[in-house]
Amino acid sequence: MEPMKIYILGCGSAKPANGHLPSCQLLEARGKLFMIDCGEGAQMQWNRMGLGMTRLSHIFITHSHGDHCFGLPGLISTMGLLGRTADLHIHAPADLKPFIDCTLNLFCHEMGYNVIFHKVDCTANQLVHEDRSVEVWSIPLRHRMPCSGYLFKEKPTLPHIRPEMLECYNIPVSQANNIKAGMDWTTEDGEVIPNSRLTRPADKPRSYAYCSDTLYTPSIARMIEGCDVLYHEATFSDEFEVRAKQTCHSTARQAAMIAQKAKVKKLVIGHYSGRIKDIESHLGEAREVFLDTIASEEGLILDFDTVVKK
Ligand SMILES: [Zn+2]
Ligand SMILES: [Zn+2]
Repeated sequence: MEPMKIYILGCGSAKPANGHLPSCQLLEARGKLFMIDCGEGAQMQWNRMGLGMTRLSHIFITHSHGDHCFGLPGLISTMGLLGRTADLHIHAPADLKPFIDCTLNLFCHEMGYNVIFHKVDCTANQLVHEDRSVEVWSIPLRHRMPCSGYLFKEKPTLPHIRPEMLECYNIPVSQANNIKAGMDWTTEDGEVIPNSRLTRPADKPRSYAYCSDTLYTPSIARMIEGCDVLYHEATFSDEFEVRAKQTCHSTARQAAMIAQKAKVKKLVIGHYSGRIKDIESHLGEAREVFLDTIASEEGLILDFDTVVKK
């Protein structure tokens, strides 16, 4: 199974505080990198984590608050300096487009690649991107401006061949694709070998949901039901629940309530307000509701099986 990993580049909120960088993540899936949000300092943090930029073709921006998009001008410009020629696709609410146009017009005259903008409808739960192996769906969020979360889903793969069974029944390698596609095998004696004996089940497709920034919105649970990992903003602690509502954000406990309702396997919280100085106690509030919760931090790499701190 190809690795699926989340790289946390930034997990703070709007104002610089407590050493956090604004929102930015990379998702590695099926050999590709997808960027989710691009807060200020994204390219610096990316560089620090030792990841190449060539595998990135799609950036998904949730909304046009600066802590989610101020990293774009630097990143777009650097990719040009590095000699990029492949198209770069930015998926975002329509109100981000003037910012991208302005960046390109002012700073990117001689770039060797195109930036293609795709408008995301923040009121719909719909497919916004797909390729051979991954689908990306929008998740309507409730914030102070149009805002969309994203659900990344691997597409199903074919079953695995059992090489020892091919050898056992003298099945030529040229038939491997047919067997993978479900074909039974008939031996020279006329015995039919069912496909289930020749293959192992396919790997279960994995999924990742990213929900930031948002007012506590239980209705999103059905859109992300059963996903493997959910990142949900947890800007405030219980103490500031009223402030969370006023500013269209969530508390750690509310993030956990979404995780519980959606029956996800693991919750990652982040987008911490500057008021959150004790991450352990913040995490504790979430874990009272949903035990399998992790607190994000810059440099954290989350493998879909194990979490590795870089
Ligand atoms: Zn934010
Ligand atoms: Zn915001």
